[in-house]
Amino acid sequence: MFPNNYIVIEGTHKNPNDIKTIDKTTEKIYGPFTESKANEFAKSLIQKNVDNFYHRAWVVIDNSKVDNICEECMKENESVSQNLIMHSYKICNSCKISKTIFPI
Ligand SMILES: [Zn+2]
Repeated sequence: MFPNNYIVIEGTHKNPNDIKTIDKTTEKIYGPFTESKANEFAKSLIQKNVDNFYHRAWVVIDNSKVDNICEECMKENESVSQNLIMHSYKICNSCKISKTIFPI
């Protein structure tokens, strides 16, 4: 439903099995991608740095982006997360207005 909410994070880690130990000075963020593109991209980053044990690339779902995508028009807008909190509808302001005037 939301195909473009995957981001890829790469960097060196104190513990390469724990994303939270990433060294922020080496951190690079790419995306957003679709899931398959993100996995592909992460794989290519890992292969490029295969001799660095502490380097990892992670595929992460970017929830902050997802919460701003309107379920009606599928566009990203800041008002969506506000309406979600206030009315529990995942809808942008312009869709909200058109829904109020023309209820389905
Ligand atoms: Zn909308």
